[in-house]
Amino acid sequence: MDNPTENIPTALAIRQFQLVVDRLDGRTNGDVDGETRSDAMRRLVVPHGVGCLHTLPENVSLAAFTDESDANGFLVEPLLEGRNPRLLLIAPAGREFRVNGQPSPRLALLREGDVFQPDNRLALHLTLFHQSILGYPPTDLLGRTCPVCVSPLTGDRRIYVCAVCGTAMHAEGAERDAADRLECAQSTSQCHACKEPIDLSEQGHLYQAEFFGG
Ligand SMILES: [Zn+2]
Ligand SMILES: [Zn+2]
Repeated sequence: MDNPTENIPTALAIRQFQLVVDRLDGRTNGDVDGETRSDAMRRLVVPHGVGCLHTLPENVSLAAFTDESDANGFLVEPLLEGRNPRLLLIAPAGREFRVNGQPSPRLALLREGDVFQPDNRLALHLTLFHQSILGYPPTDLLGRTCPVCVSPLTGDRRIYVCAVCGTAMHAEGAERDAADRLECAQSTSQCHACKEPIDLSEQGHLYQAEFFGG
């Protein structure tokens, strides 16, 4: 397979929170990755595990938490409340901030669509992104058993990965001859493991931020 964009990066990265940066003061973020771009277009990808968010006037950044992360950042961590993705947010001691316009306690559990305001200059819109759920299996899924046809997943057959629980099943289409096609995802209406409805068209943003003042 030499089409890496079709590969699913990892089964654990199927649901991903992103923070859409909305600068209320009209500033841009300056130099990011060697190119200048408007903050209105920026999305900060929330890493899996604990992340550290910095909201300096000249730069807004989000990276995985490490020993070198300083104590002035907001800590964020994606987690599940039942089956619903949430983003745990812990503010630095003494730091005031708002969620959906209201002053928030130091520890907040954000959901898709919430607006987090670390200060008066900045609003961060929490969006949920479904990453590729149709594609060739990443290496950590090779050899797992498809729950529908009970045969192992191989690198040459396209699969569907449930965005809720990560269960993978065959989902081949026109790329393979009809007589040899495994249409396991197409043959069932819900995930065998978690009962989430299977939607082979489900990709992209579920929630689109509406900006203040456009
Ligand atoms: Zn199968
Ligand atoms: Zn599932």
